[in-house]
Parts: sequence; C-alpha cells; structure tokens
Amino acid sequence: MARDIVNFNAGPAGLPTAVLERAQAELMDFQGTGMSIMEHSHRGKAYDAVHNEAMSLTRSLMGVPDSYDVLFLQGGASGMFATIPMNFLTAGKVADYVITGTWSQKAIEEAQRIGEVRVAGTGKVGERFVRIPEALDLTPGAAYVHVTSNNTIAGTQYRAFPKTEAPLVADMSSDIMSRPVDVSQFSLLYAGAQKNLGPSGVVLVLVRRDWLAQASTTIPKIFRFKTHADKQSLYHTPPTFAIYLMRNVMQWIGEHGGLEGMAKRNAAKAEALYAAIDASGGFYASDVEVAARSEMNVVWRLPSEDLDKAFVAEATAAGLVGLKGHRDVGGIRASLYNAVELAGVERLVTFMKDFKNKR
Ligand SMILES: *Cc1c(COP(=O)(O)O)cnc(C)c1O
Repeated sequence: MARDIVNFNAGPAGLPTAVLERAQAELMDFQGTGMSIMEHSHRGKAYDAVHNEAMSLTRSLMGVPDSYDVLFLQGGASGMFATIPMNFLTAGKVADYVITGTWSQKAIEEAQRIGEVRVAGTGKVGERFVRIPEALDLTPGAAYVHVTSNNTIAGTQYRAFPKTEAPLVADMSSDIMSRPVDVSQFSLLYAGAQKNLGPSGVVLVLVRRDWLAQASTTIPKIFRFKTHADKQSLYHTPPTFAIYLMRNVMQWIGEHGGLEGMAKRNAAKAEALYAAIDASGGFYASDVEVAARSEMNVVWRLPSEDLDKAFVAEATAAGLVGLKGHRDVGGIRASLYNAVELAGVERLVTFMKDFKNKR
C-alpha cells in the first residue's frame, strides 16, 4: 500500500518507510526463529543481539565516549523529569533550570517536588517562548543545569550549548540524532524515542559513569539510573519491540550518512520552509527569533485563526497531515524530524504558495 501522505506530526512522528517495511517483513518470523522478536525472551540470543546492536549503534552514531553508559528506559521523557532530580538533586543541593518552553516548565515542576530549584534563564518574551537565552544566572555549586535542546511546541532550538561548571543535563527528545553533538559537554542527556528515533515506549539516556556513581542510593532501586546501567538495561524486561524498531531506525540513519547526513537533510528541509514563510510578505508569520529557529519544529500563523483552520483543513485534504499547532499556542506547526523527506517539505511549500495566492 502506498503511503501518499506527508506526516508532519510532532510526536509520535513518522518513521522511515523502509524501517516499517522491514518490521512488517520480520513480524511473523524473526530471522528464521518462527516467532516475532516481540515474542522472544529478553534474555535469549535473538533479542540480545538486537539489544547490543542498538547500544553499539548509539555509541557509533553519536560518538559516545567510553566513560558514558547508554540506557534504554521506560516512563517517557516525562519520567526522566522526575527520576533525574530523584537521582541527582540530593539534600542541600540546588538545581538550575533554563526554561525555554512547556517541556522545560514541566521538568522544573517535577524537580520542585523533589528539592530546591532555580530558574537560571528563560526564553519567554511577553507571553511566548521565542528565544534561547544567552546569559544565564547560574547557582554556584548547583547539582546540575537542565536545558531543553529543542522546544517542540515553541519552535526554538539551541545552536550551541551553555558552558557550565555544574553538570549539564539536556532533554533532547525532539532533536536527538538530528545533527552531530559533542556528548562530552553533557553529564546526562535523554530523549523519548517517538520523535526522531522510533516508536513511543523507550527513552534513550546517556550518562557519565562517574556522575552516576554520585547519585542517590536511597530511592527505590527501579528509579536509580545505576540499577539499569549495571545490567545494560536488562535489570527488568525492557520495551523489546520499541528497542528493535529504534535499532532499525539507527541502521537507517547510518545508511543515510549518519548524523552529518541527518544534519544536511534537516537543514535543507528547514531552509526551504523558512524561506517560504519569509517570502510570504507577512501572510505566514512567526515571532520566533531568527537565531533561535528550530530545524525540527517550524511554527507560524496566518492573519486570523479562521485562516489557520482553513489552512490545516485544506492541507489535510491534500495529504499534508499533522500541521495543527499545539493546543497551547495555536497556529501551524510542521515537524521536520529525520524521517520527513525534502520532497514532502517541497509539497508543503507549493501548497503554501497556492493557498496564499487563492486568498
Ligand atoms: C515530547 C517531549 C517530551 C515528552 O515526552 P514523553 O515521552 O511523552 O514523556 C518531553 N520533552 C520534549 C522536549 C518533548 O518534545
């Protein structure tokens, strides 16, 4: 069956067609074993090979230093909002959070339930998150500094990350593996898989092993990152099918030039779309500062809410789906994650020109 739509969903998001076709081909009989990978023991040989390859692909694609552990966890990125402070915001410490959107806001709210937090910077101007703050007000001796590398709802993204004395922690849920990053800047980074890496149900975590050694040991064992690090994420049953699909997505990334290849693809898509917005004479407009524009989630609005609605409806009818802005901010949002092809963005750009000309 042809997939003639272009999927601009913000998450869960589109997966590469080749990855889905492979999963379909292997679904009933994984490599001659007579069963699906979903039906294999997580302690058996067949799954073990998939699990280990997912770890080694993470290491090779991202250039993860040997001094870091690679974890595959459950609970979503939202679970990490709680478990990071549970592990690292120990008594008497303060954690700094840079608030650049809804997700950072949720992250600090969870941390507040655990210990003392401070806002070290904000991307808000008036009512909206439109920028990435340059200067930060950091707490000396902070437990860590938390940033959100890409703001899925606000449509902003870090180009370069702040240099901090305290351990830097990043939520990379919506731009993980979309471009090369120097992992060694971070003591911990995490990402729910369902935007760039696979289906929902698994969170990728990279954590510096020496920092892990300082984490709390009084919290329940299941919530300690070290529990999972010590057992290569096989302490309990991992989300095996999600990890299998993530492994296949990572192979696909490798076949498409790795993270350098993804960065090129993603820059070309974002350039095409921002160019269409900028060339529309204000018909399509965004208040995101140009320097903070996200390559993953492009947000804009039309001259009225009625036009926003008409735009989404007509686009959907034309096979361009998932363009409705997040309910918190309205307007239009196109998510251009790794799996979205340039040709799909070109279809959107043509649609935008036609829609404007008809008005
Ligand atoms: C989607 C998203 C989340 C939430 O992820 P869940 O897996 O649903 O908990 C957190 N942070 C960012 C930046 C996101 O884009």
